[in-house]
Amino acid sequence: MKTRPLFDESAIAKRIKELGEQITRDYAGESLLVVSVLKGAFIFTADLVRQIKAPVEIDFIGLASYEGTQSTGHVRITSDLSAKIEGRNVLLVEDIVDTGKTLDFLRDMFSLRNPKSLRVCSLLSKPEAHQMRTPVDYVGFEITREFVIGYGLDLDQRYRELPYIAQVL
Ligand code: 5GP
Repeated sequence: MKTRPLFDESAIAKRIKELGEQITRDYAGESLLVVSVLKGAFIFTADLVRQIKAPVEIDFIGLASYEGTQSTGHVRITSDLSAKIEGRNVLLVEDIVDTGKTLDFLRDMFSLRNPKSLRVCSLLSKPEAHQMRTPVDYVGFEITREFVIGYGLDLDQRYRELPYIAQVL
């Protein structure tokens, strides 16, 4: 498989530090429930929460939607949250927003559970592919329509462990 490096470890770390600072400022005096969307966001979440200087609780929701490099358009919950989100400041942490269908699905589901606030932070975003109703609040990097792997992102469950992000050619 041919790949082209897009973001190396230090570029990722630098951007996550900035995101953490921004989130820390925006939630000053508040506590946060960070909901990491598995599996893709697990590495990003681990690095991001260590850059947020506010009381943080962390939970996980498991979703599956992709097969190979194609979005199936069907989002499936593989494991639900354990935390209650009613009255909480919820920050959804995603690996990448492509069409945004996953995000719309999650926003609808979470809104029904009456959080105090609901925002979304995604490491990557593909604005050209967006079809969703609401924008992402915090974005690490914008990319074009290329398929990317590494730093949590997979191709058929492989390559999540790569410390950098690369485009599959
Ligand atoms: P969406 O619902 O926004 O179309 O798709 C979101 C999900 O599709 C992401 O959370 C991610 O799991 C997967 N996805 C979208 N684009 C890519 C990509 O370029 N690489 C990988 N590995 N997964 C992607």
